[in-house]
Amino acid sequence: MVRKTKQRQAILTVIQNAAKPLSAREIYNMVKVQHPSIALTTIYRNLDLLTEQQVVSKLRVRDNEYSYILNAKEHRHYLVCLSCHKTVSVKKCPFDVFAAKVAADTGYEIVAHDFQLYGYCRNCR
Ligand SMILES: [Zn+2]
Ligand SMILES: [Zn+2]
Repeated sequence: MVRKTKQRQAILTVIQNAAKPLSAREIYNMVKVQHPSIALTTIYRNLDLLTEQQVVSKLRVRDNEYSYILNAKEHRHYLVCLSCHKTVSVKKCPFDVFAAKVAADTGYEIVAHDFQLYGYCRNCR
């Protein structure tokens, strides 16, 4: 149990200190320095958990390729460059009004949403 918590903390520290979103494999390579016995599946399991707990955001870089970024305290969305993976955050959220309408139409209580923009940054265009 202690070991599990330590590994999760190590994963979180790597994400916190990263200047850009990291793939699971990049996180794995960095965590491995301190925890040589950690398995890639452990990384994936913890990343899923951290995503579920909304501690980190999972960004789709391309099909079946994701990177992870620490969640900002405020609600925001991200714009991801498909070429170099440079990510910028977009503070404005257009979905609150839309979500309220969908909630009214479906009877769901909507508590969260995901939305990302993909494109090519200035350097990659
Ligand atoms: Zn780019
Ligand atoms: Zn939003």
